[in-house]
Amino acid sequence: MLQMKLCGDLVLREKCAPVDAITPELLNTMDEMVNMMREQSGVGLAAPQVGITQRFLVMMDPDTETIYKMINPKIISKSDDTSVMEEGCLSVLGADGLPVYSNVRRPASVVVEWTNERGENLSAQMSGVPARIVQHETDHLDGVLFIDYLSGVKREMLMRKVNRGHK
Ligand SMILES: [Zn+2]
Repeated sequence: MLQMKLCGDLVLREKCAPVDAITPELLNTMDEMVNMMREQSGVGLAAPQVGITQRFLVMMDPDTETIYKMINPKIISKSDDTSVMEEGCLSVLGADGLPVYSNVRRPASVVVEWTNERGENLSAQMSGVPARIVQHETDHLDGVLFIDYLSGVKREMLMRKVNRGHK
């Protein structure tokens, strides 16, 4: 049974190692992560959020409900144009146990390469919400959280609402 790691847990700040083999355990873990994501009405979940410092994630395009299981995902290009969208994170919860949200500016579209659960190498250009999710989730694999993009004052205001977990 996987456990959600919350803001303040240092595992969320680690740089994750590449996955070197697609094992049954990895496939089970990704299935369990999809279930956790759905149960908590999330649209993405990265391995360090469940305490695993390896480069994989699951995400869902909320428009099509397509599930992506990405192993060793890499963003290989980012658009110059940016967009602002509200972001939250299943590891950054308020006192009510629900995610806290803030606007974040990021590139509007990206090209991402990954290996899927069948070992196929894929790439896609993503824009809109999927581009947003894949950037947020791949950041997790480098120990980066969306709150890192906020200016000092905004970040302080948000962090005041955040329940810093179970430690
Ligand atoms: Zn997150």
